[in-house]
Amino acid sequence: MTRPDLHLHTSASDGVYDSAQIARLVQRAEVTLFSITDHDTLSGLPQAFDAAYDRGLAFIPGVEISTEGDEEVHILGYGVRAEDPVLCSCFEKAARERMERIQGMAEKLKQLGLALPMDEIQEKAGFSVGRPHLARALIEKGYVKDMQEAFDKYLGKGRPAYLPRATMTASQAISLLRDRGAVPVLAHPGLIRWPMERLLPMLQVWQNAGLRGIEVYHPANQGNYAFWDRLARQRDLLVTGGSDFHDGTSSHGQIGETASLWPQACADGWALYRACKR
Ligand SMILES: [Zn+2]
Ligand SMILES: [Zn+2]
Repeated sequence: MTRPDLHLHTSASDGVYDSAQIARLVQRAEVTLFSITDHDTLSGLPQAFDAAYDRGLAFIPGVEISTEGDEEVHILGYGVRAEDPVLCSCFEKAARERMERIQGMAEKLKQLGLALPMDEIQEKAGFSVGRPHLARALIEKGYVKDMQEAFDKYLGKGRPAYLPRATMTASQAISLLRDRGAVPVLAHPGLIRWPMERLLPMLQVWQNAGLRGIEVYHPANQGNYAFWDRLARQRDLLVTGGSDFHDGTSSHGQIGETASLWPQACADGWALYRACKR
């Protein structure tokens, strides 16, 4: 029986371990089919191919794209090519824009008399610098007492240091992946806090844009696995699952944990594998 884990992060984004270390942990967890799905980058994939081959593990190259808005609408793309020039330049542009936004917000804070050590912040934050890093720096400097105050006073939407984020919509991310020959899947629907009356019609919009699956077996969906499993199959969508492992702490899943809760893990994992080969 194949045990899949199709949602893993490496140090190429905000995980702790590199792809070779992840492959070792995957094997130790008796997972036999895995995917690396770093946030907005493909740079961990070449090493993952080698590591999977060396260990005799089945591997699907993936990515997780963050999309517009305050909700956690993340789109997983499976079967991407590690060297895809269109995707690579998209992700490079997004990283540049993320950095420019945070620098712009720091500039606004400075004009308000709240100077922050930006070099230090960027070094600590690495690839995924965002508003929480500015908020933490504001607390450390004693300008605000907590995260809530930092967002309420300065960093939240409409507040004096706020700048909007220029990201793709979920539909754009789905079409982009589809056009690049990848299989787009909605990540962890349980993290989207919209009411069902809003989420279900959006799901149809996304399916029209090319969505091919739902990540049902993710820790954030716990308690609702049967609901999402049924919904995905009714709509002819692939059922996927993964732990969203980052670093082994309790804030994310542990490698392989959702495979044990996923009745058709073996068949569903190979269905995705085959869809990526087509
Ligand atoms: Zn995510
Ligand atoms: Zn993730």
